[in-house]
Amino acid sequence: MSAPAPPLTRAVVDLGAIAANVRVLKRHVHPARLMAVVKADAYGHGLVPVARAALDAGADQLGAATLPEGFALRAAGITAPIMVWLTSPTEDYARAASEGLELGVHTVDQLAATAAAARAAGRTVPVHLKIETGMWRGGATREQWPAMMTAAHAEEQTGAIWVRGIYTHLARADEPGHSATVAQLRELKAVRELAARSGLRPEVVHAANSAAALATPEARLDMVRAGIAIYGLNPLLGIDPAVALRPAMTLEATLTSIKTAPASAGVSYGHTHVLKRRTHLGIVPLGYADGVPRAASNNGEVLVAGRRRPIVGRVCMDQVVVDLGQDPPEAPCGAVLFGSGSHGEPTAGEWAERTGTIHYEIVSRIGSRVPRVYR
Ligand code: PLP
Repeated sequence: MSAPAPPLTRAVVDLGAIAANVRVLKRHVHPARLMAVVKADAYGHGLVPVARAALDAGADQLGAATLPEGFALRAAGITAPIMVWLTSPTEDYARAASEGLELGVHTVDQLAATAAAARAAGRTVPVHLKIETGMWRGGATREQWPAMMTAAHAEEQTGAIWVRGIYTHLARADEPGHSATVAQLRELKAVRELAARSGLRPEVVHAANSAAALATPEARLDMVRAGIAIYGLNPLLGIDPAVALRPAMTLEATLTSIKTAPASAGVSYGHTHVLKRRTHLGIVPLGYADGVPRAASNNGEVLVAGRRRPIVGRVCMDQVVVDLGQDPPEAPCGAVLFGSGSHGEPTAGEWAERTGTIHYEIVSRIGSRVPRVYR
């Protein structure tokens, strides 16, 4: 019996690469622990398969942004510690408490709501106090630190919460050695001392994302929260990451057709590309609804039958047209939009550079109608 045809479009995810990246990072940051960040459907790679692969490869715990992400991991039977950091007391804190999720807590109000939910569930909820140190996004500001520590200590005494962690997030970790990171770490140290004076003994103080985990040893502290690096993508701006990362995702499609267009034909919406001569065109069934940036219109390349072919005309919602030149490959024919680069295909980083974004966005925006295929 012949193997079933692959789906027309597919994001092929190499779970072996995820595992290898986790192992190499874990060695690199030792003795710090490793939290594998699997928010946003594991940056588009698939929440549950990636979470399992990362834990099997030695990640100490998982990190996610939203409660539904945490619930989905629990529903899949994952019992490992999971920290969730972007929640609101208007959400189902009772369920979070009963499912044993660890919550990032940014305000005293949130702390009180967490403790109330914990009491109702008859559980002790592990919390990580989020500290504003210079990113100016979430977390308790310097003025709020004392009230936060006092409230946390009081609730810890009741048994409703356990202050398992104190953490912050770095704004400029992708620029190793930047004074902003030094300043943020200094603030975190000050808050750690304040916490100790307030009677708190957090098990883990953490700050590092992938970039800091790779290139700023003093930021690793007790645990790193690594996202992009476990997907094999280097977050450091123009700097070698010093560890071998393997990109895990390859975005592929089978061309739906190959056609011949005459000289002076205008291609796709707006005829922004006009053919200079008779040309073979390949139709790739992926478009901006699938996460192909519209900024790749007349500005990108796709590997078809081992050769890079330019995208011509505007990227449409579901399709992209590529110029196959004068000698078209035989149909049916596969196209690789991005991957590890090892077969000559563009990388997610190359797509990001061409289209004015970052590889985080390229992989995490691959749409839900593109099947994830694991190998
Ligand atoms: N920690 C927090 C709080 C985050 O929001 C993120 C992602 O943005 C990460 C860690 C992981 O960052 P990175 O993917 O750069 O490793």
